Amino acid sequence: MAHPTNLEADVIVVGAGLSGMIAARTLLEAGLVPLVLEADERVGGRILTEDVLPGVSVDLGAQWIGDTHERMFRLAAELGVQTFPQYDEGETSYDLDGSGVLRENAFHARFADELAELERVLRRLDELAADVPVDAPWLAPRAAEWDVISAGTWYDAQGLSPIARTLLEICTVGILAVPTVEVSFLHLLFTIQTCGVTSELFAESEGGAQTTRFVGGTAEIPRRLAALMADHIVLEAPVLLIEHTADSVSVHCRGGLVARGRRVIVAISPTLAGRIMYDPPLSGIRDQLTQRLPNGSAMKAFFVYDEPFWRADGFNGQLISDVGPARMSNDSCSPGDDHGVILLFLEGDQARTFGRLPIDERRTALTAELVRHFGDKAATPEFYIDGEWSDRQWTRGCYNANHGPHVWTTYGHALAEPIGVIHWASTDTATYWSAYMEGAVEAGERAAHAVIAELTK
Ligand SMILES: Cc1cc2nc3c(=O)[nH]c(=O)nc-3n(C[C@H](O)[C@H](O)[C@H](O)COP(=O)(O)OP(=O)(O)OC[C@H]3O[C@@H](n4cnc5c(N)ncnc54)[C@H](O)[C@@H]3O)c2cc1C
Repeated sequence: MAHPTNLEADVIVVGAGLSGMIAARTLLEAGLVPLVLEADERVGGRILTEDVLPGVSVDLGAQWIGDTHERMFRLAAELGVQTFPQYDEGETSYDLDGSGVLRENAFHARFADELAELERVLRRLDELAADVPVDAPWLAPRAAEWDVISAGTWYDAQGLSPIARTLLEICTVGILAVPTVEVSFLHLLFTIQTCGVTSELFAESEGGAQTTRFVGGTAEIPRRLAALMADHIVLEAPVLLIEHTADSVSVHCRGGLVARGRRVIVAISPTLAGRIMYDPPLSGIRDQLTQRLPNGSAMKAFFVYDEPFWRADGFNGQLISDVGPARMSNDSCSPGDDHGVILLFLEGDQARTFGRLPIDERRTALTAELVRHFGDKAATPEFYIDGEWSDRQWTRGCYNANHGPHVWTTYGHALAEPIGVIHWASTDTATYWSAYMEGAVEAGERAAHAVIAELTK
């Protein structure tokens, strides 16, 4: 795409994900002129809806919001995007620690003690997480102790039965997209605290993070946001270099575009922010931080059938398993469409291993898993699609930045703290539902308000 070579605005925003666009919208509302530079040929970043068949779209990126995602509900209403509840009727199918495939009621009856153990650990996690300040986790009274062990180490020390321990691993990898051995225990507690309690994070119904979806797919949100400020967004403009002085920035993109402004908000994940050059260079602490915040690994794989046959068999479309490549699945049908859509998650090591296989092999392995849980009808999908996020140059993994042991307490303060005229957004810097769309909105608003305060005083 041919760009003009020089542009000017009050505030340059790097990244037209949700966070960057919300920052830009907030600036516009305050009378400032933003300019959003987006590397990709589309807006939305980690939000990506694909139309796969007539009337069928799937969310390869973010899909759900939960009851406490107030900013997202408000945003959807403002933009006229309708929501609908996640289908949640029927039983989940389990296969854990050699149990064989069991329907939910049978699984719960057989492993009632193990599930009670799991519940006790979740309550304990909630109690500990309550001591973590979300805007400064390193100040938690026991931060030093919690940040030198992994979540996996803490789990292993709880004396859990294999089933309870496996379920805990699956739940945790399901939100952090890395094996628990790679996650600081303090980061796990921070994540719980930014979302409320474990039941909010892990549950799919009543108050969980996955209760509600968007009609037409989640990408309706960034598309409509972008349409409201089309004059302020430049696509295919990857930012390579940010020159900064005490009161100005020059932001250089591939292809020669230079955007000048008074402030810049960098609304991309920390690891990608660390790949931009800064002149003068940023502090060693900031760079060491971005060297230590890798994104997780997750893939979503969608099977489209002519009907949601599992519903008639009394299933809700969910599986929880430690046998095949996918640990979890969901019913992902859309209202007003007769197709059956089922989504399988590959997270952490599963995404890393199976993500390397040719797509046909992934499809075959996942089909076998669906057949084991939901029967032969699962063997003949009409369509298959999956999405590998670490291959995407402008995302490089998901769902968000992972804090391994010793990162929060050593470098955490450099995560969201502005450096001169450079401000940081993206969900990875949020203090409420960090890692989620709700966090992306919160972080975009926070960075924009900080800039507005500086430029309008
Ligand atoms: C598979 C998957 C499933 C998810 N499921 C959910 C869910 O169900 N619910 C939920 O709430 N959240 C979910 N999330 C997380 C959610 O998508 C993110 O929290 C949110 O979209 C992040 O928005 P952001 O603006 O902070 O970052 P991003 O979306 O990453 O936006 C950053 C933008 O910056 C651009 N960019 C990167 N580098 C540069 C550069 N150098 N120059 C210019 N532009 C650049 C990128 O192209 C991108 O558009 C999911 C994410 C994924 C990937």
